[in-house]
Amino acid sequence: MTDVVVVGGGLAGLVTARRLLKSGLRVTVVEASDRLGGNISRHVVGGITLDAGAESFATRGGTVQALLGEIGLGGEIVSPNPAGAWLQPTSGPAVPLPATSLLGIPGVPAAADVITVIGTRAALRAYLGDTLLPTRVGAKSETLGQLVRARMGDAMVDKLVAPVVQGVHSASPDDLALDRVAPQLRAALHRERTLAGAVRTIRAAAPAGSAVLGIRGGLVRIVDELVADVTHLGAEIRLNSRATAVAPGEVRVGGDTLRGAVVVATSGLLVGDRQPPRTVTLATLVLDSPALDAAPRGTGVLVAEGAAGIRAKALTHATAKWEWLAERAGGKHVVRLSYASDHQGLAEIAREDAAALLGVPLEPSAVLDFARVQWSRAAVSEVVPEGIVVVGEAIAGTGLANIIGHSEAQAKALLSNHAG
Ligand SMILES: Cc1cc2nc3c(=O)[nH]c(=O)nc-3n(C[C@H](O)[C@H](O)[C@H](O)COP(=O)(O)OP(=O)(O)OC[C@H]3O[C@@H](n4cnc5c(N)ncnc54)[C@H](O)[C@@H]3O)c2cc1C
Repeated sequence: MTDVVVVGGGLAGLVTARRLLKSGLRVTVVEASDRLGGNISRHVVGGITLDAGAESFATRGGTVQALLGEIGLGGEIVSPNPAGAWLQPTSGPAVPLPATSLLGIPGVPAAADVITVIGTRAALRAYLGDTLLPTRVGAKSETLGQLVRARMGDAMVDKLVAPVVQGVHSASPDDLALDRVAPQLRAALHRERTLAGAVRTIRAAAPAGSAVLGIRGGLVRIVDELVADVTHLGAEIRLNSRATAVAPGEVRVGGDTLRGAVVVATSGLLVGDRQPPRTVTLATLVLDSPALDAAPRGTGVLVAEGAAGIRAKALTHATAKWEWLAERAGGKHVVRLSYASDHQGLAEIAREDAAALLGVPLEPSAVLDFARVQWSRAAVSEVVPEGIVVVGEAIAGTGLANIIGHSEAQAKALLSNHAG
C-alpha cells in the first residue's frame, strides 16, 4: 500500500520523497541501481574519500542552504578558496577569468583581463557595439548566446562566455534560454542601456560571498542525510528495481505493478522525448607534486572549445579549492578533469592535460592514483505526460540549486492535489 511511487532515487527523487513523507504520505522509492544518490556519490582514490560526481552547489535563491539546515548540515557548509578559476583560451597559456562578469559576460568589455582572453580587436568591438547600439538590439533574444552575440560580438561568446557557461550549466550559451539562466539580465539591459552596465549593476546588487559553496567532508553527505531521513520517515525503498513503464496511477517494475500517484525522477529516461542521455567522463588524479602547493591556477581551469592540444573540458584543483580536502589529502593533490567522451588511455591523457592546464611538469611518477567515472547527463524532456509528476535534472535544469527548489515545489503541488 502506497500513496506515491517515486521512480528514481537520485537527489530529485529523495528530496521529493522526503517532503511527501513529512506530510504523512506513504511513499515507495524504486531505484534501478544498487544505491541511492544518482549523480552524487563517493569514491576512494589514492586512499582519499572524494565526491565522485557533484562537489559544490550554487547559492542563488538559498534553496540548497535551506534544505541543508533542515537535514542537519547547515553547520557543515564551507566556502571555496576565493582565488577563483582560470580560463584556457584557444591558444596561449591559461589566464585568470575576468574579474567583473556574469556568466562570463564582462562588466568592462575592454578591460585588460578581457583583452588577454579575446584579443584587443574583439574587446574593442564588444565595447563599441554595446555602447553605440540602441538598447533594443538583442533585447528580444531568446537565448543568452543570441543576446551577447548581438551586442558584444561572436568572439565574446565563443572565447569567454561559452567556456564559463559550459562549466556552470553543461550547455552552450546558444542553447540556454536567457530568462532561465539570467533572469534579471533583460530588465537590467533596458534600465542600464548597455549589457556591460546591466552586468555591473547585477553584480553590485549580488550579496557578498561566494556564488558556490560546498560541504565539509563532501557533497555526498547530503545524500547520506536524505537517505537517513526518508528511511526514518518510513519510505519503502526498492533498490535494483528498474521501472519499465509508467502511466498515471501506476508503475511497472519487472512483473509487478505498483499503484499510487507517480513521480518520475529518472533524469529524462522513461518519459519525455527520448533523446539518449549525454555522457560525461570524470578523471580524478591524486598527485605528488609540490609545484601545485602554490595553486598556480586558483581553483581550476575552464577550457575554451578548440584549445590546442587539450582534450579536457574543465579541470578542478580540488585540494586548492577546498581546505577540508587539503587537510584530508595530507600534502597530496587532487585534480579532477571532465571529458565530453571517454578516451582510450585516459589516465595518460588526463596527466598530460593536467600538466598543460596547470602549467607545471607532471611526470608519470607524480601520479599516485587515477580513477575514471562515467556519468550520464539528462537529455532535456519537454513533454510531460498528463497525470505524472516529473522532477529532476531533465526538467529543472542541471545542478542542486535548480533541482531542489523544483522538487520541493512539485511535492507541494502534489500534496495540495492529494488534499483536494
Ligand atoms: C561529474 C558531474 C559533476 C557535477 N557537478 C555538479 C556540481 O558541482 N554542482 C551541481 O549543482 N551539480 C553538479 N552536477 C549535476 C548534478 O549532479 C545533477 O544535476 C543532479 O545530481 C541530478 O539529480 P537527479 O536526481 O535529477 O538525477 P540523477 O542523479 O541522474 O538520478 C536519477 C536516478 O534515477 C535512477 N533511474 C534511472 N532510470 C530509472 C528507472 N527506469 N527506474 C528506476 N530508477 C531509475 C538512476 O539510477 C538514478 O539513481 C554534476 C554532474 C556530474 C555528472
